[in-house]
Amino acid sequence: MKLNETRALVTGGGRGMGKAFVQSFKDAGAAVFTCDVNPVEGGTIADVSNEEDVVRLFAEAEEALGGPVNCLVNNAGIIRDGLLVKKDKETGEVRAFSTKKWQQVIDVNLTGPFLCMRQFAQRCLETETRPAVAINMSSISRSGNAGQTNYAAAKAGLVADTVLWAKELARYDIRVAAIAPGFIRTPMVESMPPHALERALKPVPMRRLGEPEEIFSAIRFIVECGYFTGRVVEVDGGLRL
Ligand code: NAP
Repeated sequence: MKLNETRALVTGGGRGMGKAFVQSFKDAGAAVFTCDVNPVEGGTIADVSNEEDVVRLFAEAEEALGGPVNCLVNNAGIIRDGLLVKKDKETGEVRAFSTKKWQQVIDVNLTGPFLCMRQFAQRCLETETRPAVAINMSSISRSGNAGQTNYAAAKAGLVADTVLWAKELARYDIRVAAIAPGFIRTPMVESMPPHALERALKPVPMRRLGEPEEIFSAIRFIVECGYFTGRVVEVDGGLRL
């Protein structure tokens, strides 16, 4: 599949990597649609963790793209970091990680991609759209990054589902792959306190943040390589957590 043959839907296109991906798809001659929880250019307001929003999103995307989506990028994601438990050195008080933060991240980062993937696959089968490809944004944190109980679980779960969705959908000519970025220059990473960012970059062999365009290179590879499915492309400057 060539990029200029895609009718792409990128979730979370309001800023960060999603915004850059939308532009890169456009530059490559693709038809592209997006969504965000806030108003977004070239797309609609939709919360990927809301079932009704997702059904409407695909209907609007089909209309705007002039046909069913044949390339889904499950990009929307959030972080709500914190330690599982933390003991205050002075007071001895033990604070536990909030269930609300756990659920928020699971909802957006795992339930969201599930709902979008299900709708994507359903529409592909109903409209006999083939070939088709879905790309799930996982993370280097999936291997168990301290302070990310919720995020690591969601991103690891997303890789497990990538493997099984690839197995289930190959017979319909639908490929499913994941990308696991390291630290990429986006508002999500730039919102980290400078000392935390500096500490995070120290063990990165490339000694710098990755650029969204470098992650798009992985998207291009996945779209174009018809034999790539059920696997993760790691784009992390050589970092191992
Ligand atoms: P970002 O700058 O925070 O952008 C995420 C986008 O998703 C925002 O536009 C956000 O909207 C939107 N969004 C949030 N919740 C949503 C929802 N429920 N429904 C629809 N859209 C929603 O993030 P990013 O850094 O570009 O990350 C993109 C993806 O890559 C995420 O899945 C992230 O986990 C993953 N990732 C990022 C890095 C990194 O270093 N940046 C590394 C590994 C993996 P608003 O801003 O309007 O709230």
